[in-house]
Amino acid sequence: MSRIGIFGGTFDPVHQGHMVIAEQVAQALGLDCVIFVPGGVPPHKTASSVKASVEDRFDMVEAAIEGNDKFFVDRVEVDAGRAMYSVETVPLVKDRWGKGGDEWFFVSGADEVSNLLSWKEPDSLLEEAAMVAATRPGYDISNLGHLEEELDNFDRIIPVECTRVDISATGIRRALAKGESVRYLVPEGVYEIIHDRGLYGARKEGEKARQEGCLNRRTEA
Ligand code: ATP
Repeated sequence: MSRIGIFGGTFDPVHQGHMVIAEQVAQALGLDCVIFVPGGVPPHKTASSVKASVEDRFDMVEAAIEGNDKFFVDRVEVDAGRAMYSVETVPLVKDRWGKGGDEWFFVSGADEVSNLLSWKEPDSLLEEAAMVAATRPGYDISNLGHLEEELDNFDRIIPVECTRVDISATGIRRALAKGESVRYLVPEGVYEIIHDRGLYGARKEGEKARQEGCLNRRTEA
């Protein structure tokens, strides 16, 4: 019997805020593994607000989790080629990864959980998996009280206090569009994919050229 986390998101791109909550939630709840599920365009975001292709977003998650033997990535939403609701995705992931007796947790930021009433069939989702509300800067887990009256399975929401990492994918995309560095805001492998593929308006060569300049100076000294 295992305790398994499912971490769905747009991951456009995956960033250190995501990695920190995956790690800290896994530790706090004693999860055996966390399965990242990069999504098609989610129902609450418009196609034009998602900037990288689903394959690029999948590759970035794969790069981000490299070296962590508790983290996995699943293609179920990538291959579906359409937007999926979490209440559809979770049973599919459980079928693909689960064995009888496993305990399932759906990992989410507190900002998303506070909007749970706008999700499709939230009570059914909570039956499929307990929902983890990880703290996120600007969103307080004490704000979840309004869900209590509306949801039969409110007690399946588990708040988890995580280190506050004030990074958002929106902020990263904006910074790249302005030519600002996002190094260390995303895992190194993600940074490389962004620059190699020129995602989000990132420049391909500028950074490397600057690094070479300093390298030459050091050699001459
Ligand atoms: P965007 O800025 O494009 O809306 P995002 O940074 O919120 O993106 P998502 O891929 O939509 O990233 O997030 C996936 C999940 O991770 C969501 O449940 C979200 O609440 C949570 N999350 C994202 N960033 C953080 C963060 N810095 N701290 C805690 N939770 C986060």
